[in-house]
Amino acid sequence: MHGSLARKLRLYGYDVSYNTNLDDKALISKAAEEDRWLLTSDRNLYLTALKRGVKACLLLGKDDASRAAEVFKKIGLEPPTLKPETSRCPICNGLLQICSPEEVEVKHKPKSTYYKCVVCGKLYWIGSHWPRIVGFDRRLRQLLKT
Ligand SMILES: [Zn+2]
Repeated sequence: MHGSLARKLRLYGYDVSYNTNLDDKALISKAAEEDRWLLTSDRNLYLTALKRGVKACLLLGKDDASRAAEVFKKIGLEPPTLKPETSRCPICNGLLQICSPEEVEVKHKPKSTYYKCVVCGKLYWIGSHWPRIVGFDRRLRQLLKT
């Protein structure tokens, strides 16, 4: 289960499907139908996906930054710059849309730009959690250099 990794990859703007209710066969079918990479730590699932012609990445890292580095190395991409404007909703994978402070109904409005998920309506802004995300990004880029 890599829900935390899925949420982080969505922050980079990737369209990441994450579903814990699907069995291995359904996961492979979904990945094939939607032309997605299958990310897993399950060696059997990984090997079965490859046999069926599905692009798959075996995750062996012990934390999300290590696993994300494995994904970027395997796929052959550099992580894009983290920007809320191009992120997806970490919760539901929906696109984010900039909204004005007037549209936002929060008690103590931080002075920031707001981003609203067009699917679930969750509101995001660059707040106290952002340094943690930037720290993750820094560690990921460090790992990609090794
Ligand atoms: Zn959402």
